[in-house]
Amino acid sequence: MRRVVLKLSGEALASAASDETIDATTVDFLAREIAEAMDRGGLELAVVVGGGNIWRGATGAMAGMNRANSDLMGMLGTVINALALQDAIESHGRATRVMSAIGMDQVAEPYIRRRAVRHLEKGRVVIFAAGMGNPYFTTDTPAAQRAAEIEAAIVLKGTHGGVDGVYDHDPRTHPDAVKFTEISFDEVIAKDLRVMDMTAITFCKDNGLPLRVFDLMAEGNLGRALDGEPVGTLVR
Ligand code: UDP
Repeated sequence: MRRVVLKLSGEALASAASDETIDATTVDFLAREIAEAMDRGGLELAVVVGGGNIWRGATGAMAGMNRANSDLMGMLGTVINALALQDAIESHGRATRVMSAIGMDQVAEPYIRRRAVRHLEKGRVVIFAAGMGNPYFTTDTPAAQRAAEIEAAIVLKGTHGGVDGVYDHDPRTHPDAVKFTEISFDEVIAKDLRVMDMTAITFCKDNGLPLRVFDLMAEGNLGRALDGEPVGTLVR
């Protein structure tokens, strides 16, 4: 049984085609990708969802807000996204549990490692909400930290903006940027490549946790990444 953590950004739930913070068609697409991956068997999947479509702590802090308060708003945003994803995945017939790092009994289960593992063993998709519950982080770091905690084999970082892996330069501003099929954590750090937050990168490196960065919005790509096919970039 392969245990995997999938990190998807809040913005992956939005769409350029609609003004909605959470686009129903996009969420349905993601849920179908997840359900189809689960249907193939042999997979235990935990999802860490971001909140950037709703709020980013750093944005509020830049406008003069207290950072910790602003980050709490961001974490609450991830809970909204987690509920949207839960609903969509269940509409595709897969059982799910949302586990929140911030206590909110009426909304989600509290995050308890042993319970999360039990859900995974029972074939439920576990959605980790509210990041790690601590300010001054983004959801990249809890994706890595939770993966280590539940002994996942890999972190899959699904991208959504058309950047389908790790490049030597930002491909949106450098058309000649070259994509890496595989790269080491040391090189990502040395070249300051913006794959994930550096805190998450150093955490993965220190804990020997591989990371695959791939385009989550291409149909079937999640399944390919889960099969270990060389989609995107493998960082290890
Ligand atoms: N956040 C936090 N602690 C965490 C995870 C998230 O404070 O452990 C806050 C932080 O303000 C962050 C926001 O939640 O900006 C939304 O998460 P993120 O920016 O990672 O969303 P994404 O870019 O993945 O959509």
